Amino acid sequence: MSTLRITPIPCLKDNYAYLVETPDACAVVDPSEAAPVIEALGGRQPNALWLTHHHWDHVGGIEALCARYPELEVWGSAVDAQLRRIPKQTRAFEHGDQARWGGHTIDILHTPGHTKGALVYVTDGHAFTGDTLFGGGCGRLFEGTPEEMLASLLAILALPPETHLWFGHEYTVANLRFALSYGGHHPETAQRLKDAEALRQSQLPTTPSTVASERATNIFVRDALKRPHGPEAIASFTAARLAKNVA
Ligand SMILES: [Zn+2]
Repeated sequence: MSTLRITPIPCLKDNYAYLVETPDACAVVDPSEAAPVIEALGGRQPNALWLTHHHWDHVGGIEALCARYPELEVWGSAVDAQLRRIPKQTRAFEHGDQARWGGHTIDILHTPGHTKGALVYVTDGHAFTGDTLFGGGCGRLFEGTPEEMLASLLAILALPPETHLWFGHEYTVANLRFALSYGGHHPETAQRLKDAEALRQSQLPTTPSTVASERATNIFVRDALKRPHGPEAIASFTAARLAKNVA
């Protein structure tokens, strides 16, 4: 039974920041901008910002939040710390690191592919996947190779099947439509698309997904999950990613 309370905070056009709360601690994941985060905090004082990567649409609220809450820790990867590209970063993590926060252990996965420094924060049955894994999709390869990205996606999908995956952008409907047009008829994907469209029509987020749902319907890993170590896995992932880039 999870004691975390997680609230998606829509930011910018289609980004999600997240409020992560325990009875005695409060963290914010990827504060794209400060105003909606401050509103969601409702007077609570956050003690940490968890950054999945350095892109402007994830770090944009850091400076204003640090000015308002001077005690804030700013978490990010060792790669991004070395490159000094996450403002005000105070802690630097590598793959396999564990951090204590609010009575919980946070496991750090380094998931390069979208960027060199991309991290996933895992705790208590929840994972914050940034722009590495989206609902039914994955991020673009700005700084990584297909091999790196596929390994990162498979590492996330090796978490227990019920793990909640909280992703960085609301792209689920577009990803599932792409999956059906690119991958052909697939009943579980079609059902998931229906569910996602209904949520969006009610202005509700499709986040979180689960590991089980992604294993069943994420087109980018469909072949790799069947044969994770063959060259077909990389070729299939690369072809899907290239097709999605121009979809
Ligand atoms: Zn990004």
